[in-house]
Amino acid sequence: MAEIDSVQGRIAQLRDQLNYHSRRYYTLDSPEISDSEYDVLMQELKKLEEAHPELITADSPTQRVGAEPIAAFGIVDHPRQLLSLANAFSDEDLDAWHKRISNLMPGHDFDFVCELKIDGLAVALTYENHLFTMGATRGNGLQGENITQNLKTIRSIPLSVPRNAPARFEVRGEAYLPKDGLKKLNDDRAAEGLPLFANPRNAAAGSVRQLDPRITARRPLDTFIYQLGWAEGGNLPSTHWEIMQYLKSLGFKINPHVTYCRNIDEVKEYFHGWTDKREQLPYDIDGVVIKVNSISFQEELGAVGHDPRWAIAYKFPAVQGTTQLLDIGINVGRTGSLNPFAILEPVNIGGVTISRATLHNEDDIHRKDIRVGDWVLIQRAGEVIPEIVEPIVNRRIGNEKVFYMPKTCPECGAEVIRIEGEAMHHCTNTACPAQAQESIIHFASKGAMDIDGLGEKLCQALFEQGLIRDSGDLYYLKREQLLNLERMGEKSVSRVLNSIEVSKQRPLAQLIFALGIPNVGGETASVLVQHFNSIDTLSKAGREGLMSIPSIGPKVSDGILAFFRQPQNIAIIDKLRKAGVRMESAEIPRNDLPLSGQEFVITGKMESAGRQELEARIRSLGGKASSDVTRKTNYLVVGTDPGSKLARAQSLGTSILSENEFLAILKNAEAALK
Ligand code: NAD
Repeated sequence: MAEIDSVQGRIAQLRDQLNYHSRRYYTLDSPEISDSEYDVLMQELKKLEEAHPELITADSPTQRVGAEPIAAFGIVDHPRQLLSLANAFSDEDLDAWHKRISNLMPGHDFDFVCELKIDGLAVALTYENHLFTMGATRGNGLQGENITQNLKTIRSIPLSVPRNAPARFEVRGEAYLPKDGLKKLNDDRAAEGLPLFANPRNAAAGSVRQLDPRITARRPLDTFIYQLGWAEGGNLPSTHWEIMQYLKSLGFKINPHVTYCRNIDEVKEYFHGWTDKREQLPYDIDGVVIKVNSISFQEELGAVGHDPRWAIAYKFPAVQGTTQLLDIGINVGRTGSLNPFAILEPVNIGGVTISRATLHNEDDIHRKDIRVGDWVLIQRAGEVIPEIVEPIVNRRIGNEKVFYMPKTCPECGAEVIRIEGEAMHHCTNTACPAQAQESIIHFASKGAMDIDGLGEKLCQALFEQGLIRDSGDLYYLKREQLLNLERMGEKSVSRVLNSIEVSKQRPLAQLIFALGIPNVGGETASVLVQHFNSIDTLSKAGREGLMSIPSIGPKVSDGILAFFRQPQNIAIIDKLRKAGVRMESAEIPRNDLPLSGQEFVITGKMESAGRQELEARIRSLGGKASSDVTRKTNYLVVGTDPGSKLARAQSLGTSILSENEFLAILKNAEAALK
């Protein structure tokens, strides 16, 4: 007795939960749990009811399809019930289904039609006297909502059919929003501060079930028809495969991946093929629907509860789940950007345990109104890092915390800045352990201090051995230290030490670029040198002084000011100065250099050297290297695979140089300097 009481209690609890979530999903288009979590509750209820059939009631969620239709739309009776589909989650489930139907019809071999299970909502379209007269939702299967006017706004639904179509018939299919349409819709909603749609099905349902068809018309909805519901008059084909071809001939949009399968092995092949390929589709699918091909077999097999026996939905592993956001961590990227990430209560989604998710930046976190402590809906797609779809606002208890980026770097404690107009926050300290290595690689690269032989691998080895902590340390490296490194012989050590020595005399612009000041590229460094003749004068410049330079805006100025405020950066500059690195500009005034007054733009891939290196050469000769072709551009240098710049230069009449012609100009100019 006690056992039956506890079973009854659990059944009642499950029914309450399922009814609550069904309403949120079907009526409000705003679920709070993922589909797989819902499926788990449903499976548990089904199992308990199977074990205790006497406890089944007509209003149990296992006995009903969907949810009650909303009267405001106008209610439509379905002449023939719209069913749901039973689920398979593994090959074993599929085999069990195959065995069940084979046992029901002994001595018959089945062939099948496999279709993609489009993640949208079911619609039933009725045609009378060759005209589209009624469009309805599935509702509870027996009655749906009249959404004819809304469906008429979807282009792929024919408003009339050819004369040879049956006099009266109904087709069933899925109305859906393609992936890019869903993304755009959610972006627009986020911008307006509206709650986002958690999945494509709710977005499609929310778009079609609008009391104002003008709203539906603005959404890029589409349809795939997958079944003939019923028909009066006309000779109809005897297999589902032929019916699909027939519906296509009447002008309905049929999914191009509908496939005929001779046996259950071919069905499995189809399913597993799409598990890998589904990311490439422009719309979301959540599984594959397998249908017995013969219509007479379908009729014989019939339905059990709200599921036909002749079809099954083989679902892909789950992609969504809910869990709690325990905290927001910060990862300092190699360029100094502060990347927030979600620390989650571990949750299993489709067989993978998820405990981290991306959170792009502070604005994004605020836009989605994600708070620390929230219950959140998580989504993973393919191999991509999981993301938070939305917070579950209804589950808040009041102690959730709004998140703000820290004011200091969690790695090194330096000041964190967010430059106007940029989404990311940055650590201003180039010696920050998290970004130091990358800064050193940049410092030594072509176009910067151009230290031959000191590439990414060697930088990494030096850093890992603790021989360098910042770029200043490069100038204090000892021969023996380098010789102790793997794969470093006498010859290569000499080469590196020699090029470190040579780099001490690089032009000031290259040093400024090499320091890695936020937003100061090679071109800006050259502009700065025209106004500040040393690192000292630049480091003392105020915001106004910087902003008075025509091409320097607030972004660059703030980056420079923040850079020189950091004691760690000043310490690096001191090390460089003590090592003898040149801190002043060359004697020759810029307008006397061979390429002064000449502006170059490089497009396409260069064979002789990287673009940055060539641009540095242009600048060291007094020329300007720009990224855009304008009326002021004197030369466009064209490599392989040039971009749209070539057409622009042609239309402006800019001189066009091949790489060789350009190299000859550089050579002559360099000779003139000597
Ligand atoms: P279903 O979505 O599992 O399968 C039936 C539906 O599949 C059909 O009605 C049709 O719309 C669709 N479909 C797509 N392509 C098809 C094709 N080629 N042929 C036939 N049908 C095709 O079943 P359901 O009853 O609509 O919904 C149950 C699902 O909804 C469950 O899987 C559950 O996870 C989810 N749900 C989730 C929540 C939640 O809170 N997250 C609540 C209720 C239901």
